[in-house]
Amino acid sequence: MSRVYNFSAGPAVLPEEVLKEAAEEMLDYKGTGMSVMEMSHRSKAFQDIIDEAEQDIRDLMNIPDNYKVLFLQGGASQQFAMIPMNLKKNGVADYIVTGQWAKKAYQEAGKYIKANKVASSEDKTFSYIPDCSDLPISEDADYVYICENNTIYGTKYKTLPNTKGKVLVSDVSSCFLSEPIDVSKYGIVYGGVQKNVGPAGLVISIIREDLIPTEELPEVPTMLQFKTHADAGSLYNTPNTYAIYICGKVFKWLKKQGGLEAMKARNEEKAKILYDFLDESKLFKGTVAKEDRSLMNVPFVTGDKDLDAKFVAEATAAGLVNLKGHRTVGGMRASIYNAMPIEGVKALVEFMKDFEAKNA
Ligand SMILES: *Cc1c(COP(=O)(O)O)cnc(C)c1O
Repeated sequence: MSRVYNFSAGPAVLPEEVLKEAAEEMLDYKGTGMSVMEMSHRSKAFQDIIDEAEQDIRDLMNIPDNYKVLFLQGGASQQFAMIPMNLKKNGVADYIVTGQWAKKAYQEAGKYIKANKVASSEDKTFSYIPDCSDLPISEDADYVYICENNTIYGTKYKTLPNTKGKVLVSDVSSCFLSEPIDVSKYGIVYGGVQKNVGPAGLVISIIREDLIPTEELPEVPTMLQFKTHADAGSLYNTPNTYAIYICGKVFKWLKKQGGLEAMKARNEEKAKILYDFLDESKLFKGTVAKEDRSLMNVPFVTGDKDLDAKFVAEATAAGLVNLKGHRTVGGMRASIYNAMPIEGVKALVEFMKDFEAKNA
């Protein structure tokens, strides 16, 4: 067996310890004689798995008691619709468009409510985070929406926008559990787990209770109502049981690493290795405004398409895989999520140095 260093933006690298544990439990989960995949979501064994997973993410993120933690399907993209459908009171919301995911969320919301684009960084290929200290927030906005870490472009909000008292909704898919956050500053904070937490097909939505409609919404499909899932403890229908199980293991792994403060320090250390090299390199350049750089997704280019392609091919052959950048940015992108060991980042930088020396 040989594992590569996988720099994929998502689905992405998972902690090796977690994969090994899951492998050990594949045929017989804790004496049940079956895999978690084969077990009823109504069984006690699974109820324990989801309860523990919820408690562990509550501990890790210090989630206040007046927030629900929902384990939902449909990925992050389904939240693009569920959020406007469920939070609609005045039917107005403000969107800050800092990348493709924010743009998709904005466009989707426009089907159900009046969505206003109050700021954007599209003028410079989303390579920065706009000044959000004094935006023209709508008087009647039900919420203000951001995508906190822009997976494709590699930018991250270092301070949250001034929402002028309006509810903040944040997509944290690609920075989920990468550092501590103050959940009480958000109305909803949610993420598709396949970037930084677990397997694809599960989204965790952390929602302040007063934002969950207390009555059924007659015009919204049952499965798209937060109330449905909140009332049923995320077990209204069969959830993505295996993904919840793996996420639970990742939460325990994160606790063992020292929690989110420790992850933040590690992520800063890893990102610094790569950014320091990009800043001194004559061949490779980062594509993002320095002050807005993500700790998770690091796009870079040589400025020469053919050389970029050569780099990606040679890196792949050396066991450094999935470095090709998103088609709208070109070049390369290294996603260095929680589970990417520091050795992987060091190996990448060594490889880049070597490539630079040979191709200068
Ligand atoms: C990947 C990604 C999404 C889309 O996730 P799906 O689970 O595929 O719907 C949304 N937002 C961000 C920030 C992402 O990185």
